[in-house]
Amino acid sequence: MPIRSFHPPQRTLMGPGPSDVSPRVLEAMSRPTIGHLDPRFIEMMDEIKQLLQYTFQTKNELTMPVSGPGSAGMETCFVNLVQPGDTVVVCQNGVFGGRMKENVERCGATAIMVENAWGEAVDPGRLEDALKKNGAAKLVAFVHAETSTGAQSDAKALVDIAHRHDCLTIVDAVTSLGGTPLKVDDWGIDAVYSGSQKCLSCTPGLSPVSFGTRALDVIKNRKHKVQSWFMDLNLVMAYWGSGAKRAYHHTAPINALYGLHEALVILQDEGLESAWHRHQRNHEALRAGIEAMGLSFVVKPEARLPQLNSINIPAGIDDAAVRKELLTSYQLEIGAGLGAMAGKVWRIGLMGHTSNPRNVLLCLGALDDVLSRAGARINKGVAVAAASKVLS
Ligand SMILES: *Cc1c(COP(=O)(O)O)cnc(C)c1O
Repeated sequence: MPIRSFHPPQRTLMGPGPSDVSPRVLEAMSRPTIGHLDPRFIEMMDEIKQLLQYTFQTKNELTMPVSGPGSAGMETCFVNLVQPGDTVVVCQNGVFGGRMKENVERCGATAIMVENAWGEAVDPGRLEDALKKNGAAKLVAFVHAETSTGAQSDAKALVDIAHRHDCLTIVDAVTSLGGTPLKVDDWGIDAVYSGSQKCLSCTPGLSPVSFGTRALDVIKNRKHKVQSWFMDLNLVMAYWGSGAKRAYHHTAPINALYGLHEALVILQDEGLESAWHRHQRNHEALRAGIEAMGLSFVVKPEARLPQLNSINIPAGIDDAAVRKELLTSYQLEIGAGLGAMAGKVWRIGLMGHTSNPRNVLLCLGALDDVLSRAGARINKGVAVAAASKVLS
């Protein structure tokens, strides 16, 4: 039997990413493939850079999408800025901080870990203490929006502390970009990476990054070659740099970039601040419904991410069975817990195109039904009404 074309089911993606991709983005990606050095393509690349500068709120010249998922953007930041023998302070409050440690060590550097409870923001006081004890540190890395727990840290405060101790900063903004305020220039962030499939609602596989002048100086004056040929920005810039003349480094993922361009145009047309407000409002509606049902959030209100809602799984309820039922009965995907939180929490994403009132009500109605049928002790039939009240 020959294998036939693949036709995925139509789902609603309310997990930790990918989020729902707008039909406009999918349509853009189906346009004709042209050469990666075609002058029209280069014009579009320049527009992507401008749109990303707006989205990151930066004037940084070196702002572009890395050809690879968020993890490739993460690695690009670390391999370019960290050299063998360096000391890097890494703040951890979830899964992704642990990956930063891995990156630092694979660069031949030492990671000093600042541990924070999972589900809480990074404590600026702890970072300050670590920097006082480790005068040799050159870099501070932390996750702005911890997708594994749903907690948001105060990026500006952490960057200020790092700078007072003469450290550059690497910030993971994979889940924050486009969903909650992120101001790369105002906050003085030196290097930042994100992902295409979270609040930008593009398909996975691209990682927007941006580097400030101080980070660029480090990259240009390295003593050791960047260990990764593919991610060495000194080489990548021959293709993504400015001017009409571009040299081949690797073949850009052409149609994926059409998609990113369209996703960024959608965001530009909505306006960044409107997008932040939309994420907040839909989160508040979801929260009203979740709490009316009698379920609780993992993260305290002041550190809660609107785009990633971690909910404690009620006692006696089978995590996997509920998610499977949501998928089969409602075509609805929500996220499982990650790392230490596996089996204990659900992660409901309201990211990008997914963040709309219809999905809030769909998710609450579906949870109400599936949890009731599973015998959970919840307040039945009230969640949708509680959310509607916030939305109206
Ligand atoms: C999703 C995510 C990543 C990794 O992105 P991929 O595209 O899966 O490689 C890194 N950091 C955070 C905070 C994320 O949410």
